[in-house]
Amino acid sequence: MKLSGRIGRIKPSATLAINAKANELKKSGVRIINFGVGEPDFDTPQNIRNAGIESIGKGRTRYTAVGGINELKDAVCSTIRADYGLSYGRENILISSGGKHALYNLFMTLLDPGDEVIIPSPFWVSYPDMVNLANARPVVVGCSEEDGFILRPEALEKAITPKTRLLILNSPSNPTGKYYGESELKALAEVLLRHENVLIASDDIYYRILFGGRKWVSLGMVEEKLRERIFIINGVSKSYCMTGWRIGYLIGDRTVIKAATDFQSQVTSNAASISQWASVEALSGDQKPALEMAKIFEARCKRVLEIIAGLPGVTCAAPDGAFYVFPNFSAYFGKKCGTRPINGSLDLADFLMEEAHVAVVPGEAFGEDNCLRFSYALSDQEIEQGFDAVKKALQKLS
Ligand code: PMP
Ligand code: GLU
Repeated sequence: MKLSGRIGRIKPSATLAINAKANELKKSGVRIINFGVGEPDFDTPQNIRNAGIESIGKGRTRYTAVGGINELKDAVCSTIRADYGLSYGRENILISSGGKHALYNLFMTLLDPGDEVIIPSPFWVSYPDMVNLANARPVVVGCSEEDGFILRPEALEKAITPKTRLLILNSPSNPTGKYYGESELKALAEVLLRHENVLIASDDIYYRILFGGRKWVSLGMVEEKLRERIFIINGVSKSYCMTGWRIGYLIGDRTVIKAATDFQSQVTSNAASISQWASVEALSGDQKPALEMAKIFEARCKRVLEIIAGLPGVTCAAPDGAFYVFPNFSAYFGKKCGTRPINGSLDLADFLMEEAHVAVVPGEAFGEDNCLRFSYALSDQEIEQGFDAVKKALQKLS
């Protein structure tokens, strides 16, 4: 069957593919330790689950307004006011089926064929493919490990052309966990102020998971003059362990939000009504479980970095947040296990799956082949066992 050219330009999500493979192996009886997928390993907090159940009891099970219920829009506005110090109204919010959907709506609303979108690498796997689906051109700008995988102003300046329409910033980052502090954002803002046609998608989905007492800061908070060009992407998936509920939101200029809402009205209609009501509770109810989860991730991150420091030849930029590490395993490239060569992150990830029964995502999927991504949304015991198995497997390479 002939498929569209559009679909030929994309690949399936590598993160979801690894997760599916790990789950398949698990079902067939193999004990896999899954560092693959990026989702918190905790249950959705009880008060949020109750709110979902209550909404069913109350019959809140019909179509809602396409752009979301007012109660959730108001909760998003209050949260953004409290956490960003920025003031938005209902007309600036679109509720969608996950952060991924919010991003896709934005790209489909803003981008035309030939438009360029600057994507700092390492990047979350879905950005380039979503840009491709919108018939625009991803322009990947490499950020080095020595620079802490952070986009530097000179690199941004160099990448901007008359065709640049959008810059994607993701902080804390998937896959590196690095975040942009105030001085880094100010330096980027200086460049962006010189290029007034460039819009910014600020993917802040991990903003609640920050380590070392770091304070949340986002581009719109450091440079007022950029605010009308910034679109914030956020959601409840990561902060409240609600990956399966599928709620994300897009925040920004009202004209764009109206157009993106019209687009959503023709494609998916509203996000699930029950999930929207549960998300009102997530944002407005008790925040303790979310704060505790962030603390647990911080403790795990510390332990993971200690373990990685004990892996010969492996280096790792210390994350500032999220729940990923992105260590560099290139010292093992060019080695073999018997006759099996390890020539890059894909080979190494396959080898670890088969030899150590550990699932990781190859760095190649994030635009950095020297690294592997480990999501440490796992119990302490699984983390210890998983890295132990990795260490033993690496010893077989020579
Ligand atoms: N942005 C980033 C950087 C992500 O890692 C994810 C992963 N799920 C998303 C957006 C989308 O999240 P979701 O659609 O599950 O809300
Ligand atoms: N974003 C998560 C990850 O990177 C979940 C899977 C996905 O949507 O890509 O693993």
